[in-house]
Amino acid sequence: MKRLCVVVDDREVEENPYKPEMWRIVRRYPLTSDVNFFQMRAVDVDDLLKMDYRPGQFIMGSVLGEGEAPFSISSTPSRPGLMEFCIRKVGTLTESLFGLKENQTIGLRGPYGNGFPIEKMEGKDIMIIAGGLGVASLRSLLLYVLDNRDKFGNLVYLHGARTPGEMLFREEFMQLKERDDLNCLLTVDKDDTGQWTEREGVVTNLFKELGPVDAKNTYVAVCGPPVMYKYVIQQLVGLNIPKHQILMTLERRMKCGVGKCGHCAIEYLYTCMDGPVFTYWDVLHMKEIIGKGVSDNVIA
Ligand SMILES: Cc1cc2nc3c(=O)[nH]c(=O)nc-3n(C[C@H](O)[C@H](O)[C@H](O)COP(=O)(O)OP(=O)(O)OC[C@H]3O[C@@H](n4cnc5c(N)ncnc54)[C@H](O)[C@@H]3O)c2cc1C
Repeated sequence: MKRLCVVVDDREVEENPYKPEMWRIVRRYPLTSDVNFFQMRAVDVDDLLKMDYRPGQFIMGSVLGEGEAPFSISSTPSRPGLMEFCIRKVGTLTESLFGLKENQTIGLRGPYGNGFPIEKMEGKDIMIIAGGLGVASLRSLLLYVLDNRDKFGNLVYLHGARTPGEMLFREEFMQLKERDDLNCLLTVDKDDTGQWTEREGVVTNLFKELGPVDAKNTYVAVCGPPVMYKYVIQQLVGLNIPKHQILMTLERRMKCGVGKCGHCAIEYLYTCMDGPVFTYWDVLHMKEIIGKGVSDNVIA
């Protein structure tokens, strides 16, 4: 995205890192009863051309006068021109966002955060494990790997939701099951429709169907509700996946997104800049730093 700079005393200084650019809602529709899909295009063509991000990064989204919050980018940089988000209505800002119609504008600044280490992941087998709203950031990675399929080894996608109606992007993932270049396994805790054709049970049950895993050659990306991490990490450690190859997205409350306000700091680490993607190795050391400050559910 565009970075405005001015020259002060021969130094180039960023004019205002908190100034959002305006993006127009191209499409907006419900994914579930409380989550909406937003597809956005920059109002200013310069912002569109300069838009550059990596899977796993987030933006700060705002409705002027209402507030600002971080949202993961759900689209992939391999399909430029539009950015996509899935947003759950939980409070003041998200309620305002749900009140906007197509063609209205939202303020966006970013992209922020480290994102997934794509360069290190290239050439490796990839396992992506999403639960609930965790798919918001993992869809970006999944689409990126699918669009660059020749650069990666085997691809496994595991996705759990509470019920079929709560599975985000359900139709899109059902279509992926037709492809023979990935293993896409979908499960719900409980089928309340009687028409669900996929698995029933928690996401960790899907591990039984994985077959042999080349642990040393595999990168795993996990994002989901805190309780999911605990059980998924246990399985991954049981499979001997190296701790630095298990990637977890952490959510901490954050305000500025640029490492200034300290809201998201875990001692010397800023979730907004050093994260939100951390390795399991990092997270184990965070436990030493903050004890029970990060939920024991997140850290096995
Ligand atoms: C890196 C990152 C990526 C994210 N990506 C997404 C995404 O893709 N989609 C998405 O829907 N959400 C995402 N979120 C979460 C989103 O930013 C929050 O839900 C945001 O607070 C919503 O703003 P709001 O004004 O609507 O709700 P808020 O008014 O902020 O309230 C949200 C919830 O948090 C509680 N809350 C409010 N203030 C505090 C506080 N100080 N301490 C503890 N709890 C509090 C409220 O009671 C409420 O339950 C992400 C968060 C992070 C950090």
